[in-house]
Amino acid sequence: MKKWVWVVVIASLICAVFVVPPSTATANADLDKINRELRALKKQKAEAQAKARQTQRDLRRIQAQKFETAKDIKTLLRQIDDSKVRMGSLQKQIKVINSDLEESITRLEKAKLRVYEQDQMLKKRLRVLYMNGNVSYLEVVLNASDFSQFLDRYSQLSALVEQDKELLMKTRKERDSVVNQKKKIESQLASLNNKYFEVEDLKETLQVQEVQKEKMIKQIVVQEARLEEISEEQERAVVELARKESALLREKNKYEFKYKGGKMSWPVPSVQRITSYFGYRSDPFSGRRKMHKGIDIGAPAGTTIIAAEQGVVVVASWNSGYGNTVIIDHGKDVQTWYAHIRNGGIKVRKGQQVNRGDKIAEVGTTGQSTGNHLHFEVRVNGNAVNPLSYVR
Ligand SMILES: [Zn+2]
Repeated sequence: MKKWVWVVVIASLICAVFVVPPSTATANADLDKINRELRALKKQKAEAQAKARQTQRDLRRIQAQKFETAKDIKTLLRQIDDSKVRMGSLQKQIKVINSDLEESITRLEKAKLRVYEQDQMLKKRLRVLYMNGNVSYLEVVLNASDFSQFLDRYSQLSALVEQDKELLMKTRKERDSVVNQKKKIESQLASLNNKYFEVEDLKETLQVQEVQKEKMIKQIVVQEARLEEISEEQERAVVELARKESALLREKNKYEFKYKGGKMSWPVPSVQRITSYFGYRSDPFSGRRKMHKGIDIGAPAGTTIIAAEQGVVVVASWNSGYGNTVIIDHGKDVQTWYAHIRNGGIKVRKGQQVNRGDKIAEVGTTGQSTGNHLHFEVRVNGNAVNPLSYVR
């Protein structure tokens, strides 16, 4: 054989080794593409989840603020009520003291009048006795039939004067004590009035504070609504990415299963009771009407959760408001979601294939949850549908 023939043969052999059949080459290129897309999605999803987590944190912070402010308002309203009660009782006291004061003014007037009258009486008698001394003396003497009668009359007059003096002193003392009493009542009244104005000031300050807090609550509610909107948007983004991811995983792994319709298994075999249904309800955190995208099955922590249908695990991790979450893709763009799983309660890995009835997790209360329960969702083309048309 000629040398060039060998060259051709060897070259052909080398080509045969290195050139793969065209069909396999396409498949490998596809797989590479899928893997690249999956990596990109994973990154996007991680970013979206981080954002969603931050929003959830903001939301929790603002809800705590709202709770505190509402508590403050309650306290303020109670204090305002208290101050109104105190003002009422002070007003009553002021009324009583005012009538005491009026009474003491009347008593003082009377006492002053008595002092004046007794003073006049005494002066009159003194005039009789001293000022018109000689005349009186003469009169007394002239009108007296004898000296002993004169002495009698004179001493009687003196005794009367002494009585008048005593009476006057007593009445003056009484008047002075009424004056003192009145002064006391006046100072009491002044201090009561001061107290009243203090409480009134306090009440006004409290009312201003209350109005401010009401304003704050309004602002918080607006912020809360905005954050909730953002949170829902972010949640939708995460869901959409998870959907894309599961579609790619399906394509990559060529799963044989395809959800054929029909009833799925009840996800918590030991508990049948539904504590909250699918549909609009008042949100346990914000109190506003909000769509509940699944059903809640109240069960003790640690209760077994099973896969409702055969499928592949596409999410087995923390997912913002959902807490620890498992999402199973059943093919035909049908997914089941299992949320609020207790820490350490996720029993499957992402990418793992599960059969209907396999234990996948344990009940908990992680994420936005008010007690141990499974939040179970069925999603078709990414949209939450009533799970009861699937599991019952
Ligand atoms: Zn729920």
